[in-house]
Amino acid sequence: MRIRGRVQGVGFRPSIYRAVTSRHCGGFIRNTPEGVLLEIEGPTKTVDDIVDNFRGIIPSRARVDELIVDAVPLRDEGDFVIETSSTNGDCLLPIPPDLTICQKCINEMETPGNRRDHYPFNTCTICGPRFTIARDIPFDRPTSTMDEFPLCDACRTEYENPEDRRFHAQTMSCPDCGPSLNWTSFSKELSFDSTDPLEIARQALTEGHILAVKGLGGFHITCDATREDIVSRLRDRKGRPHKPLAIMVPDLETCRRICTVSPGEEALLTSPSSPIVLMKQKPGNPVAENVAPNLQNLGLMLPYTPLHRLFFNHSEMPPALVMTSCNRSDEPIAIGLCEIEEHLSDIVDGALGNNRQILNRCDDSVYTFHAGGPVPVRRSRGHVPEPIFLPLSGPSIFATGGMLKNTFALTSGNRSFLSQHIGDVSDADNARHFEKTFRTFSSLLNLEPEAIICDLHPDYPTTAFARRIADERDLPLLQVQHHHAHTAATLAEHRITDRVIGVSMDGAGYGTDEAIWGGEFLVADLLSCERAFHISYVPMPGGEQAVWEPDRMALSHLTKAIGPEEATRRMKDFVEPKKCDALLNLLDKAEFSPSTSSCGRLFDAVAALLDVRHTITYEGQAACELEAIADESECSSYDFSWENDQIGPSPVMVAICEDIDKKTNPAIIAARFHNAVSKMIVEGCRRIRSRTGLDHVALSGGVMQNRLLVNRTVPALEAEDFDVLVRRRVPPNDGGICLGQAACALARLDDGQQSGGTEAT
Ligand code: ZN
Ligand code: ZN
Ligand code: FE
Repeated sequence: MRIRGRVQGVGFRPSIYRAVTSRHCGGFIRNTPEGVLLEIEGPTKTVDDIVDNFRGIIPSRARVDELIVDAVPLRDEGDFVIETSSTNGDCLLPIPPDLTICQKCINEMETPGNRRDHYPFNTCTICGPRFTIARDIPFDRPTSTMDEFPLCDACRTEYENPEDRRFHAQTMSCPDCGPSLNWTSFSKELSFDSTDPLEIARQALTEGHILAVKGLGGFHITCDATREDIVSRLRDRKGRPHKPLAIMVPDLETCRRICTVSPGEEALLTSPSSPIVLMKQKPGNPVAENVAPNLQNLGLMLPYTPLHRLFFNHSEMPPALVMTSCNRSDEPIAIGLCEIEEHLSDIVDGALGNNRQILNRCDDSVYTFHAGGPVPVRRSRGHVPEPIFLPLSGPSIFATGGMLKNTFALTSGNRSFLSQHIGDVSDADNARHFEKTFRTFSSLLNLEPEAIICDLHPDYPTTAFARRIADERDLPLLQVQHHHAHTAATLAEHRITDRVIGVSMDGAGYGTDEAIWGGEFLVADLLSCERAFHISYVPMPGGEQAVWEPDRMALSHLTKAIGPEEATRRMKDFVEPKKCDALLNLLDKAEFSPSTSSCGRLFDAVAALLDVRHTITYEGQAACELEAIADESECSSYDFSWENDQIGPSPVMVAICEDIDKKTNPAIIAARFHNAVSKMIVEGCRRIRSRTGLDHVALSGGVMQNRLLVNRTVPALEAEDFDVLVRRRVPPNDGGICLGQAACALARLDDGQQSGGTEAT
């Protein structure tokens, strides 16, 4: 039997071992690069019985995607053996991802008298930390940071017993032999009766203190999420005025009190990777307003470690705790107590740590659910380093990704291993984190890249790094345009190599004409890419600064639509006259105001014009707040203009001004604008189909995280018989472009192209 799916790192081989040996059959089970190879020898009826009921004998966390059964000649195999993989190359998954505590381990923790009752490090074969504590391959106790905790006799007996559910559980331990909690105070005001670190932390939280708590992939900053004063203290200390904070709640019941939870969202919340799930808040819920200011969506997750569960296991605990990455702004998440002591002791009052060392930092994953399925916003803990299968194979590629929300990819054959979330690599600490993670990843996966691919942007730190590595190792360096990579990532994920219509609605990506692209209709496959339509260019007054001040984009779009005087008049309540004049002056100076076709910047302009948001403190804030106010019941829309390859937003801006004059509710205007963009996407696809006959549409780009927009656009495209490909496994934002880059590199190497860029016509 050849089995593909999630079949490694979930206790697959021990489960099969038990099922086969209990039926007195022989054979072997072996991990392979594609999954698992299983041979069973025994009486026909018994073997048939195992095959027929196969899905019943696999562990609860395994997932079988493909099962091929063949008859082979008898080999007289009396015993059944688990063949341990000798080298990493034999393995689909040399190191499994970290997984949420399983039900059996929860039950033990809640059983008085059980030797693991209330044990904060309870794990078994199918749950607990893995990637984050892995030092080397294959994943084993001696190659992880659990090597500091030799098994006690009771644990060793379980570990060695094939009948036990902890047979070969590399991270298992118990209160006698495992790690322990510790507490550090950073504030003199703190004094406690207890000496138990967990009890102290609970007491500190209920008293309104802000703590660092060590999780799987790093520390979280945590505090009472129901108290506005504490959340605002946290925001002050962290210098994070608006960016939404994720929260953790004890159970699904509490989730439902706070948000409306659809069955799809529930499945995500309770999945073994336990991501943060963005869901719509219910009015009057107990979570403080300033946890996600001006947003409808709230990011919730369920407890995923034994310690998290113990936290909530206390009557005075608030029903929701802020659980945000322990770092300063966008720096790497802290993994050690010394990092907190050195850099973050002014943010947190105390830290609940433990002596199980984290080696590979890994932030929480974030998902949303739209267009009928899950959409990753950040693919990290619980998924890394599980591979994504590419539609083609070739030499090992290192794809360095983009600049914001960076992840990178390393390939082996047709498998692409994406790194955990690295973040904004223009930050020096993140750039170091990137480099270190690349080296760790490449050694953990035993992969030496044979070619490198990066973005076309000359100033991305990832471009510079790609150049340096290519130089040092004398490897071919390829480059691919940002939105071609976005589109290719959608193709790669769906394992398609055909030409498609690529719609990339995005914030910013370097174009082949050196302009800043981001509202693109492409005709593309993995090898080539042609720009069919794009949102017409407007200047970004002051360049990058326009990203942080949506008012600048409003002035730019309005000036193009209604002229500078009218634009000034419209914006006079929001922008001082002096500044307005200065910005209008800048508009004409190409060296200070690069041209952009960005769809994200158009959302910014509309948000500023509607008085929703004038300056932002986190990426995408204006667009998120615009989405949040939109009245979903509104169906009418505005029209873009179409001329040659240009899509003009000016008629949309004019119509919005008219609606403002008519005192139309901004909620209606915001909805009409979303509808207009959706209609524009459908129109663009229609035009390309009539020219090319193509009917597959690959959606991508950061704007495609907008739930309202996607929920309008996908059904509208499907109603016109388009086959719509949306991202389900890698984020539509820049967190996914490394996958597209890797696929493009393989296509080019396969085609014999060593260099060359994306063609634009
Ligand atoms: Zn378990
Ligand atoms: Zn033990
Ligand atoms: Fe992008």
